[in-house]
Amino acid sequence: MFLRKIVAALLLIIGILPSITAHEGGHYHSGDGTVFNTWRLQNGEQVLGNFSAYENNRIILEWENGKLISLPMESFSKQDQLLLQSKISRTEAINRTPIFFATATESGYYFTPIPLLLCLLILGILFMLKKSNQQFQLLPPNYRRTSYWITGALVIFFSCKKTADSNPNNTTTGTSIVVPKTRTGFMDSVFAAFKPSVNTNFDNTYYYVSATGFPNHNMMVGITSWQQQVPIPQNYTGTNSWSIPLQPVMAAVPLSTKSNFMKGAVALAVNGIPIFNALNNRGEDSYKIGELDNWGGHCGKADDYHYHAAPLHLATVTGNLPIAYALDGFPVYGEKEPDGTTLTSLDTCHGHPWNTTQYHYHGTTTYPYVVGAMRGKVTLDPSTPAPENQILPQAFAKGARPATNPLNGASITNFVSSGTNAYLLTYKIGTKFGSVAYSWDASNKFTYTLTDTSGQSVTNTYQR
Ligand SMILES: [Zn+2]
Ligand SMILES: [Zn+2]
Repeated sequence: MFLRKIVAALLLIIGILPSITAHEGGHYHSGDGTVFNTWRLQNGEQVLGNFSAYENNRIILEWENGKLISLPMESFSKQDQLLLQSKISRTEAINRTPIFFATATESGYYFTPIPLLLCLLILGILFMLKKSNQQFQLLPPNYRRTSYWITGALVIFFSCKKTADSNPNNTTTGTSIVVPKTRTGFMDSVFAAFKPSVNTNFDNTYYYVSATGFPNHNMMVGITSWQQQVPIPQNYTGTNSWSIPLQPVMAAVPLSTKSNFMKGAVALAVNGIPIFNALNNRGEDSYKIGELDNWGGHCGKADDYHYHAAPLHLATVTGNLPIAYALDGFPVYGEKEPDGTTLTSLDTCHGHPWNTTQYHYHGTTTYPYVVGAMRGKVTLDPSTPAPENQILPQAFAKGARPATNPLNGASITNFVSSGTNAYLLTYKIGTKFGSVAYSWDASNKFTYTLTDTSGQSVTNTYQR
């Protein structure tokens, strides 16, 4: 009798174990009474959200509607860092409970064979006990067969679990609006004004834009929060060109740029400069914190120039034509409608339907500036989970030197071409000036001379 109870309890525990391992990123719904924690940041600001995950020294907080914000650990106040540390260790401790090995299946379910194997082992032991001692019985004979069936069913149920993070783009179908295929002749007319610094071609699926990563306007001046990166040309050509889908398809669930696409571009400006999420990779509004130049851009870790704000200045060249294309294939207009009328109301994606079958975004001077959520279906890079996910295909930048660090107090005052393939950037800290002089040759050898505000110079050469 006693042994029977122990065995029943064991079976129950083994069956349930895999389902109670802590998972990162629970879901909260607005209006369900969820209380959000208030976190204090070093800069005095407060953010609301519940601790969701810890990855690469970044804290991911979740708030209403499952929106995620990612912030570096150091940005939290000392006291809140301690609290976060305790939450991280608690999550890690729970996760150390055997998760068992899991096999992903195409349907989004995964199978954990360990509970099944353990149950078989216990049943085997029971069978042997029964053989050696005819008095022992797990259950009266008439219930035994049924109970084995139930146990088997329970084991299979607990062994197969739905994966928490399935890609909504793979599991949902588009809404009823069927968007017409974009005419390549129209796109040609949009990009024409920026040739030959951009080149275009297309096949049945994509409109391809190749570019050097350099715009035909000045850069860098106006930045007051600088990571010491400077623009170098990029090879957005050939198989590394930008690809804009010619047939946009409405997504059933638009993916928000607040909790997605912290990597890579979300759109391509018609001058061949990529447009990134309005939030930088630390979850901050790049424009608001002074990271952007007078044209809404700055350089990334690969010394790659890109916008985070809407390049509304391009409208002086494009007129009423789009200033960009989102990577879901929908155009981005400036502050006017395609017919020149004043912009009408925008949805949460930062766009609206147009002429019954079309859809477009608008660039504006306020957050989210370009894309609030991807209205069209996009393919996601499976190797980087949200919010650090990115849209594929994507053109990639390549740097020549290791990533540089923020230079506190520096504001960029001047950026000029100082010769063939050579530039001089000047910055100011207080009343003193510093500079970065750099150049490259045909073999992709890059030379950077950094001169700090005390006049000290260092020159380094890198082969890209
Ligand atoms: Zn950036
Ligand atoms: Zn519009």
